[in-house]
Amino acid sequence: MIIVLKHGASTEEREHLVEWIKNLGIDVHESDGSYQTVLGLIGDTAKIDADLIASLDIVESVRRISDTFKCCNRRFHPDDTVINIGDVQIGGGAFAVIAGPCSVESEDQIVYIAKAVKQAGAQMLRGGAFKPRTSPYDFQGLKGEGIKLLLTARKETGLPVVTEIMSASDLDLFEDVDVLQVGARNMQNFDLLKALGQTTKPILLKRGLANTLKELLMSAEYIMSSGNPNVILCERGIRTYSDYLRNTLDLSAVPMLHELSHLPVIVDPSHATGISRIVPPMALAATACGADGLIIEVHNDPPHALCDGAQSLTPDEFAVLQRRITAIRDAIR
Ligand code: PEP
Ligand code: MN
Repeated sequence: MIIVLKHGASTEEREHLVEWIKNLGIDVHESDGSYQTVLGLIGDTAKIDADLIASLDIVESVRRISDTFKCCNRRFHPDDTVINIGDVQIGGGAFAVIAGPCSVESEDQIVYIAKAVKQAGAQMLRGGAFKPRTSPYDFQGLKGEGIKLLLTARKETGLPVVTEIMSASDLDLFEDVDVLQVGARNMQNFDLLKALGQTTKPILLKRGLANTLKELLMSAEYIMSSGNPNVILCERGIRTYSDYLRNTLDLSAVPMLHELSHLPVIVDPSHATGISRIVPPMALAATACGADGLIIEVHNDPPHALCDGAQSLTPDEFAVLQRRITAIRDAIR
């Protein structure tokens, strides 16, 4: 259920109403937007008399919401959520590019790439330390050592770092990481989502390989209902009939998710396509359709990358793309 308050509702009356609802065992999410104040009620609202609430002086309207997702629902929180990561912002008109290698391989590699992507205009550095690989015989990442190297690269460049967490038991290792990524394969690892909900870190939640938008939103709901409102959604391509491409990039997910949810939505054209030359056009298309940011794989030596070389841009290719992204942003503003 949502309750829209009238402009100028007194703080005292509002607090009184919120307390009364909470005493019924119902959670109240208060959203003070630029146009309206919305109280989102979560719990067994069947016991609330909607007509009685609607008759209160401070109430403009009352609506029952049947959507199963609440905290991330646009109707509970009409304004865009803006996620702050140091000086970087994502959402609500703020656009950010995250760039870096699929995996952290060495100090030289990550520091070199971090400097190059910063120079080109990226706002954050990505790099996998814990890698979810299809084959157990493939490079599994440098794990804790990889996180330390990412933090070295942050120190050298000032770029906040984004890296994937695969298990809640590793959480201590991620204490100094800026953004924790939940990979596609873990989108429905509900114990992990609940554990991340108990942190205050921004979470980059990637859509699963064969998951619907509602399932993605329900996974965001797991994190948010556990107490962490800082979620960034990521469309990274889904499994369809694509034969020449790694996945199918569902760009229509961007405006649809924006309609359904107030959370920022970014796009990963690298994992979506799997082919470096297809990455720039899809990155530009994602920018044009209103994404709040991009996450792009960049490697100094793609043919010798330990993971995902075929989809990685060189720093020079990334610099060209970054200029074109800026041009698209200017064109749609
Ligand atoms: C990654 O970002 O390196 C990654 C493994 O992505 P995804 O979970 O989308 O496959
Ligand atoms: Mn990768």
